[in-house]
Amino acid sequence: MTRAVIEAHGLTKKFGEVTAVQDLSLEVGEGEVLGFLGPNGAGKTTTIRLLAGIIAPTSGYAKVNGQRTDVEVERLHQVIGLLTEAPGFYDRLSAQRNLEFFAGFYPDLDIATQVEKYLKAMGLWERRKERVGTWSRGMKQKLAVARALLHRPAILFMDEPTAGLDPVAAAALREDIATLATREGVTVFLTTHNLAEAENLCAQVGVIRRGKLIAV
Ligand code: ATP
Repeated sequence: MTRAVIEAHGLTKKFGEVTAVQDLSLEVGEGEVLGFLGPNGAGKTTTIRLLAGIIAPTSGYAKVNGQRTDVEVERLHQVIGLLTEAPGFYDRLSAQRNLEFFAGFYPDLDIATQVEKYLKAMGLWERRKERVGTWSRGMKQKLAVARALLHRPAILFMDEPTAGLDPVAAAALREDIATLATREGVTVFLTTHNLAEAENLCAQVGVIRRGKLIAV
């Protein structure tokens, strides 16, 4: 394996009585795509939130790009991109304004250049002036991918990126993810319910059930 850029060591998260993630350890090498598979409620989203420094573990720890995810979260967020299950946008703003707004959170980013680059990369440039509220789920998902990539993250976390997309849009997005990993060396950690997707796209597949990693 190349240098590990995502490491989990005995990662555990409890919500009251519920153990959402239990003693999870894994590594993902630089430029690899890891698929995280499991039934509803298995702990996939919780794992992503732990690795992205959104929530702190009950015990254990994770390192992303060599940094602990429970300290220096600000610095962590400069190097990761996060695509959540339900990406929120401002419905009354155009696609372009939405991206400009979110790009503003990153210091030293050439906002105009990056927004144009990723609107074009996701095939949304021609429609950049349209209000996001009028868009289909698939188009919003493309915009969400553009938003996750704006600041050129080295590591991308994607929670069910193709859920709710039609087969053509899902296939196109899978291709984009594969290109990011192979051409730009981006490390991708994605969750999915789709076995074929995991098989096609991922160098490693982790299977989680009731909070426990049962196979890699
Ligand atoms: P899905 O495929 O349905 O998205 P998942 O594998 O992503 O499921 P999680 O959302 O990580 O599963 O949830 C794992 C368990 O932790 C579930 O039992 C869930 O109810 C519980 N859980 C998750 N977040 C919280 C929270 N903030 N408070 C309490 N319980 C939670």
